[in-house]
Amino acid sequence: MYILLMGPPGAGKGTQAERLIEKYGIPQISTGDMFRAAVKEQTPLGLEAKKYMDNGQLVPDAVTVGIVKERLAKDDCKKGFILDGFPRTTSQAVSLDAILRDLGIKLDGVINIAVPDEELIKRTTGRQICRSCGATYHVTFKPSKVKNVCDKCGGELYQRDDDKVETVKKRLSVYAAQTKPLIDYYKNSNLYIEIDGKQSMEDVYKDIVASLEKSK
Ligand SMILES: [Zn+2]
Repeated sequence: MYILLMGPPGAGKGTQAERLIEKYGIPQISTGDMFRAAVKEQTPLGLEAKKYMDNGQLVPDAVTVGIVKERLAKDDCKKGFILDGFPRTTSQAVSLDAILRDLGIKLDGVINIAVPDEELIKRTTGRQICRSCGATYHVTFKPSKVKNVCDKCGGELYQRDDDKVETVKKRLSVYAAQTKPLIDYYKNSNLYIEIDGKQSMEDVYKDIVASLEKSK
């Protein structure tokens, strides 16, 4: 099963990817892991990417695309893969199409776990972390027994700056602006499958699997 997985931060992409990996026996391929592996293995492209990363620069598309191609050509991708975090732009999507054509692979679906902003804000901004033991809570979905106090160790609970409403709103609007052209691109190719991400994790999973099986 060849899957491209998309979804805004807080949509539960990680959880779904874990279950899909297990169901289909395929690897999850994320850009970060791919870069780290290429750098570690010191492939020519990996070394090239490292030069940019060491200077805090963005890795150019040509290098990124090369690394993706090397990764997707590996043996563990013979039965499929879940691609996550790539492509980010339509030009990368065009490059991906070329890579897949070369490798004789056809995507089964581009899954987008869609969740309205208000819901994502509610999910993300309610997160709390214990200062002492690192346990995580959520004011609505997994509250501590005593407000702002850790159940496990009595430590103080705090909210990461990343999870504050203004920061989350900004992150979501950047994500939406970046992703819209990509969604349009895949809608045109009939690969696009939108999943209602407001449902429970279990129902989201069932929907994804049903859509993929139908598209096969
Ligand atoms: Zn604690």
